[in-house]
Amino acid sequence: MKNIQSIRGIHDSLPNDTIYFQYIENIFKNLVSNYGYHEIRLPILEYTVLFLQSIGKTTDVINKEMYTFVDKNKNKITLRPEGTAGCIRATIQHKLLYKKKQRLFYMGPMFRRERPQKGRYRQFHQLGAEVLGYEGPKIDIELIVLTFRLWKILKINKYIFLEINFIGSNKEYKKYEKELTTFFQKHENHFNEDYKKRIKNNPMRILDTKNLDIKHIIDDAPIITDFLNEKSRIYFTNICNCLDLLNIPYTINPYLVRGLDYYNYTIFEWVTYNLGSKLAICGGGRYNHLIEKLGGKENPAAGFAIGLERLTLLMQKNNSNYIFCKSTDIYIISSNDDSIKNKAILLSEYIRNILPSLQIIVNYDNKNLKKKFIQANKHKTKIVLLLDKEKEKTQLITLKNLITNEQKILHKNEIIKNLKFIFNL
Ligand code: AMP
Repeated sequence: MKNIQSIRGIHDSLPNDTIYFQYIENIFKNLVSNYGYHEIRLPILEYTVLFLQSIGKTTDVINKEMYTFVDKNKNKITLRPEGTAGCIRATIQHKLLYKKKQRLFYMGPMFRRERPQKGRYRQFHQLGAEVLGYEGPKIDIELIVLTFRLWKILKINKYIFLEINFIGSNKEYKKYEKELTTFFQKHENHFNEDYKKRIKNNPMRILDTKNLDIKHIIDDAPIITDFLNEKSRIYFTNICNCLDLLNIPYTINPYLVRGLDYYNYTIFEWVTYNLGSKLAICGGGRYNHLIEKLGGKENPAAGFAIGLERLTLLMQKNNSNYIFCKSTDIYIISSNDDSIKNKAILLSEYIRNILPSLQIIVNYDNKNLKKKFIQANKHKTKIVLLLDKEKEKTQLITLKNLITNEQKILHKNEIIKNLKFIFNL
């Protein structure tokens, strides 16, 4: 019978990756907590209409990528493709903005039926933050500076670059969109059917094309910056000045487009060129009308989402000195006798009670001692504790340091003192 495989684009996370995931998630949690963000845990399933109303009907996510099905009650349900919509739905449903503004963060799986390739999966994980109720450029800066700090802590700041754009208010954007449509219509004969549809529905989405044949047309296209009013210009200048002040390098990319329609004013992406072609590690921006659009009271908001798998790929590729220590502190071996194996369990629990930071593995195999030592080496063990039947009668235990090759025979009562010394505890 053919073995059952996981679904295409939906992967298992094996220990070599999960060790990075745990590391990143812990650092992210501590970092956002330090900035005053609180965790929100959101459902993976939502009513489809939530995404239709927020992400935008002409986006790829809505048109091609959502996992949607009808449940037994004939409700249209979708596996969440992103976290912001659910977060805003929850905020409105639980009236979170009634008493105070919110700084929230979340982590978890997202689902998009994209064409699978390196760094692009159908189930992937995001670490996200949303700031709700706060207006103005300083919050946009806070989101950027927070992510910048994360890259520094993870030692990948050398490989990630900030691109920002300012797409103005809805009014400014609409005016620009109209101009852009007119411009592209003039060059319509260069575009295929898919692009012609975009000209009609969402012309800005042509700007970030990878199609070299039409790049020369885009170079002459109007840019959003020319359609911003005085207030918007001041806002954007404020952001740029603050980034300069904070020494955060950035590029203004007037062609930067986000794949989700709810954004306005500031948008940004942290991208890398280090994993093949240009790839976004984190995307975010302001979405001042989304809360209102989903039925809440008008309230400004901004946020970002980081792709955990892409971040992991980047770290794995670049931090050769950043090898996670997967060694075992103590490996307990005993002779093949049930009562001695019980003693080994007791010993491991005794050490765990007093020295909980040590990683201890007990070997229960019925193999000879040589094979058990081979196992200890495979686990990159530092210290082996050996219990054999004869010595156990007088509570003696052999301690072998596999790094220095030193060996001593100790009374059980001396074990903790020795381990404290060896592990500097
Ligand atoms: P978005 O919600 O589209 O702004 O995406 C935010 C981040 O999630 C991106 O910058 C990526 O790092 C990550 N991401 C988005 N789509 C995928 C995917 N299909 N596979 C892996 N990571 C993704």
